Amino acid sequence: MKAVTYRGVGQVALEEVPEPAIQQPDDAIVKVTRCAICGSDLHIYHGHIPGMVPGFVCGHEFTGVVVEAGPAVRAFRAGDRVVGTFHTACGHCAMCRKGAYNQCREYGVFGYGVAFGNLAGSQAEFVRVPHADVNLRPIPEELSDEQALFCGDILTTAYGAVRNAHLQPGETVAVIGCGPVGLMAVQSAFAQGAARVLAIDLLRDRAELAERLGAVPVVASETNPVAQVNKLTGGLGADVVIEAVGGPKTVALAFELVRGGGRIVAVGVTTVESFAFPLATSLTRDIAFRIGLANIHRDIDATLALVAGGRIDPEVIISHRLPLTEAVEGYRMFDSREATKVVLIPDA
Ligand code: NAD
Ligand code: ZN
Repeated sequence: MKAVTYRGVGQVALEEVPEPAIQQPDDAIVKVTRCAICGSDLHIYHGHIPGMVPGFVCGHEFTGVVVEAGPAVRAFRAGDRVVGTFHTACGHCAMCRKGAYNQCREYGVFGYGVAFGNLAGSQAEFVRVPHADVNLRPIPEELSDEQALFCGDILTTAYGAVRNAHLQPGETVAVIGCGPVGLMAVQSAFAQGAARVLAIDLLRDRAELAERLGAVPVVASETNPVAQVNKLTGGLGADVVIEAVGGPKTVALAFELVRGGGRIVAVGVTTVESFAFPLATSLTRDIAFRIGLANIHRDIDATLALVAGGRIDPEVIISHRLPLTEAVEGYRMFDSREATKVVLIPDA
């Protein structure tokens, strides 16, 4: 089958690789109908993810049709339309039982190398899904595959970040980064009751995309975002800040944007081990800071329902739909920010 593989820093390739087969009784094989290139794939592309060996199949955001289900799979059978969770969980360990699926003892991420469960990715014609009952969801009949696609990753990541921030109706949310995750955070914040969302990006066109979703754009390369957010909040700062870029610079910015008693949730992926935590300021200003990987299994049913109910429209961020065979160009466009979000279609 055709698949996108990692080939080294700044290099992916379209290659012919063996089709996956059932390995465990609770595995399923899914024929991929849609897969996306995620900001997290760019960390691989930039060579920042240890354990991505050359030849490893990339990709973790996908929908498809079950073509084979192992004998222990109960919830799915061949022909079912499904969306996959970008990270896997076993569903029965002590962490899963606590609802901390992102801390599962068998945690893995599709297409993220040997350090993340050694699971071949979904930018391919077929993907093997372990613990299929846990790591797949049926796509509601009224939704297209594309509408459900981001529920397996960026939408649910963003929705969960807002949830983790304990947003109260009527509050003001600042979102740092208007890439796909940030844009999903804008929609999630409104869906969870935000009165206003202030959307910050270095790129004007990205901030303007957020504006189309109802946010107030703040172009950080043209204006000081701290001064701008202060001005827009009467000098208080934002009740909630969602950091959707990754790395110490934007996390530090979040501390400057949040009001006293406010909450920061960072979801941007970073490989930087530590940063100077503003300890004394956070004490006196009573700041809550949370950072973590998404807990897709906790929130995916809510996001699927919000999309089905018309409260969130994830498709608005798709700028390019390409055949899987043009994935190399898709990575180039997404990395150079020519594309906001690239969806790959294996059978195009
Ligand atoms: P992306 O790279 O497409 O978008 C990032 C955006 O941030 C871009 O629009 C860029 O212009 C903007 N940006 C960069 N530096 C900035 C700065 N200093 N100030 C303001 N804006 C800035 O990525 P994405 O797909 O939107 O994902 C965002 C982050 O979320 C990535 O790090 C990704 O790996 C991460 N992510 C995390 C999880 C999780 O489980 N925690 C899940 C999905 C994605
Ligand atoms: Zn992702």
